[in-house]
Amino acid sequence: MQLDVFTLIPHAFAWLTEHRPVASVLGGELDLRLFSYRDTSPLRARQVDDEPYGGGAGMVLRVDVVAAALDAVYGGRPEHRVVALSPQGRQLDQPLVEELAAEQRLTLLSARFEGFDERVVEHLATDAVSIGPYVLSGGELPAMVVVDAIARRLPGALGDEESGINESFSDALEGGLEYPHYTRPAAFRGWGVPDVLLSGDHARIDAWRREQSRLRSVRA
Ligand code: SAM
Repeated sequence: MQLDVFTLIPHAFAWLTEHRPVASVLGGELDLRLFSYRDTSPLRARQVDDEPYGGGAGMVLRVDVVAAALDAVYGGRPEHRVVALSPQGRQLDQPLVEELAAEQRLTLLSARFEGFDERVVEHLATDAVSIGPYVLSGGELPAMVVVDAIARRLPGALGDEESGINESFSDALEGGLEYPHYTRPAAFRGWGVPDVLLSGDHARIDAWRREQSRLRSVRA
């Protein structure tokens, strides 16, 4: 998959690319490219933002700057999905992650300040996606959330492919929450581990996990 991120802070993504799951699929299943709006800004001094028409606080990321960045990389408007990261977009959930992970090419646009000139969302993007009903200062963290969530769905991303099958919101758990996990020590400060997990009886363990998953999902 080719995943392109447009941002004002490309270096913010350094740590993401150094660790699993992104590091495991980079150069293989994932071709992650980072582009700075400033590098292709057609304006003096690589300006990217401007005051809002009508007045008010803050600055707005200009539509001509975003268009110039897309033109420079794709030679025009891309044919594939272009997602504008916005708190006003469709809320990200696992079905949307699966949908995006199935794309061959995907572009993420992040903004800062007051956000995008609305014409970016209306005319340059195909989708607007929010990572949750709260406002962050910029689209870099939302873009990293989307990249990480997509990367772990790509073949070879996880040390053990099994961990991507039985996890919260997966089809294997019927979209529910995953069961609890425990590891050594079996006893710690008087806190034990459910006996069934120490029994070695895989059928019982499996049944217990499914029940725990069901209970947690009902409670949530
Ligand atoms: N003025 C905007 C509003 O009230 O809807 C908020 C702009 S926010 C300070 C700046 C940028 O951060 C947004 O344009 C978007 O790219 C990103 N951003 C902030 N919160 C986000 C969220 N929950 N999901 C996705 N992107 C977000």
